[in-house]
Amino acid sequence: MTRINPLTGKEIHICVICKGDIDHHIDPTTGECYWIIGHNAAPVKDGRCCDTCNATAVMTARLKPMFGDRAADVAVGLASAQKMSLEALKKIQEEEE
Ligand SMILES: [Zn+2]
Repeated sequence: MTRINPLTGKEIHICVICKGDIDHHIDPTTGECYWIIGHNAAPVKDGRCCDTCNATAVMTARLKPMFGDRAADVAVGLASAQKMSLEALKKIQEEEE
């Protein structure tokens, strides 16, 4: 499911879970968009989902068989760790420039 942004003319995919816009992923060094189709929403739904639904609903559902009631906490921890590693990578790239 997609729509066209009337301001930019760019294609935007719609999240099958929250029905919001799927985030465009931008390369921080070039400023270019390299990914627009979001994440696999399984096992929550068939189709593609946004970053937020992936980090919360989808990851929790995937982790549930391993972590049971703690799955949501583990999903939040993983999202936080991913964010910290991206920030650390960005800092390293800035120091190299
Ligand atoms: Zn969503």
